[in-house]
Amino acid sequence: MSSSPQERIIAIRSSLPSSVRLIAVTKQVTSDMMRHAYAAGIRDFGENRIQEAAIKQVELQDLPDITWHFIGKVQSNKAKPAIEHFQWIHSVDSLKLAQRLDGLAQQLGRSPLVCLQVKILSDPSKSGWTIPQLLEDLSQLDECTNLQINGLMTIPPLRLNDSETLNVFYRTRDLAKEIQEKNLSNIKMHQLSMGMSGDYHLAIQAGATMVRLGTILFGERLSP
Ligand SMILES: *Cc1c(COP(=O)(O)O)cnc(C)c1O
Repeated sequence: MSSSPQERIIAIRSSLPSSVRLIAVTKQVTSDMMRHAYAAGIRDFGENRIQEAAIKQVELQDLPDITWHFIGKVQSNKAKPAIEHFQWIHSVDSLKLAQRLDGLAQQLGRSPLVCLQVKILSDPSKSGWTIPQLLEDLSQLDECTNLQINGLMTIPPLRLNDSETLNVFYRTRDLAKEIQEKNLSNIKMHQLSMGMSGDYHLAIQAGATMVRLGTILFGERLSP
């Protein structure tokens, strides 16, 4: 493969349907490489460590129109910097965290866009709501009026085959539809944040509106 990073990113970007927003996952990617991605048209960057993102935000402050997406586990002591450094938080995984973010958002005068992370199949290595838990928490989530709850995020368990993975994505889509039909005042289900390098074709097939791609854009990382 002799193509430059920029050419590779452009090729993948242009292969996606225009309805799908590409979040370039840049954990462990240098800000120099992120400039190549920016030059290739990327405006959405996803990070899973606040400190690492904060450094890159300073290094890239001359690029004004980047949207920063937090995709990692939000530790409760990091909820405030998560709001301060990111416009989107894809990984809101409990009512307690949502309520904490809501209170902080009010104090900070912010209204972050968030996705609710769901676990369609049980998976001890992942956090997120189970379907029944989420349905039960909806009315309290609807009271988190400083958050713009905008959709669902999911990560299928590892080692599923394609049809099992596709099924997880379809069930996530169906859950979003079920929630949307409740017509809650503050909860919108516009986004389905699902699909990573290994499974984004399946996610798009099931209706993903945001895919979070790292490896396929930037190459293998040193550690997960
Ligand atoms: C690392 C990560 C990604 C990107 O994964 P790739 O397989 O490198 O595309 C997407 N989403 C989340 C939550 C991640 O942590």
